[in-house]
Amino acid sequence: MLEELGMLVRLQSIDTHLMDLEAEKGDLPEIIKALNREIARFNKTIEDTDKTLKDISVQRKQFDQEVEGSKERLKKSQNTLFSVKTTREYDAISSEIEQAKHNIVDFERKLVELLTREEEAGKTLELTREKLAQLEVELKEKQADMYERMESSQGEELRLQHEREKLVVRIKRPVFSHYERIRKIRDGIGVAQVDNGACSYCFAMIPPQRQTEVKRMDDLILCEVCGCILVSPDENAA
Ligand SMILES: [Zn+2]
Repeated sequence: MLEELGMLVRLQSIDTHLMDLEAEKGDLPEIIKALNREIARFNKTIEDTDKTLKDISVQRKQFDQEVEGSKERLKKSQNTLFSVKTTREYDAISSEIEQAKHNIVDFERKLVELLTREEEAGKTLELTREKLAQLEVELKEKQADMYERMESSQGEELRLQHEREKLVVRIKRPVFSHYERIRKIRDGIGVAQVDNGACSYCFAMIPPQRQTEVKRMDDLILCEVCGCILVSPDENAA
């Protein structure tokens, strides 16, 4: 038997095993990534809302001052109203009074709007913080879960990777390259068996003459459809 074929069979067995170990970790890495993205999004919302609340607070102070100023002017104008001597003076003061009243109404309305916005932003902040706390708990759980699973398979993974490295250096470069290339496009499979006259990966029928050649295991024979390296089913690697 071509020694290389035996090594390829073993290599495929190792790679399949490694893929199984990876699959055991399941969707956890993806879930953790998604949780982290969501947490970042919530943190951004909190940051933005904090800024909105600060802006509102600054505006509120301004509007309060406007109202206070207008109230003072109103009082002053109302007091002078009684001591005016001419119609012209009276008109001027009346106009000041109207202006002050208008300002007070206007800024008080703006203040009400600000208070509504402040209340809404406060609620957003509260909800976001709650949701963020939940997400952080969830993330911690999933991380612990993943570390646990990783720990249990880590030894096995290292052993397999070590064996793989030692095996790979013994396989001729072009052969190994072909195996890797096919594996990349065929769900991690680069070596297929001839099973009931068909390629075990793509189920293409293998002509009888080729089947005989594959059985001899003394040459590198590829499936003409999927490109997998064909081996005899007897050559099962442990
Ligand atoms: Zn095939």
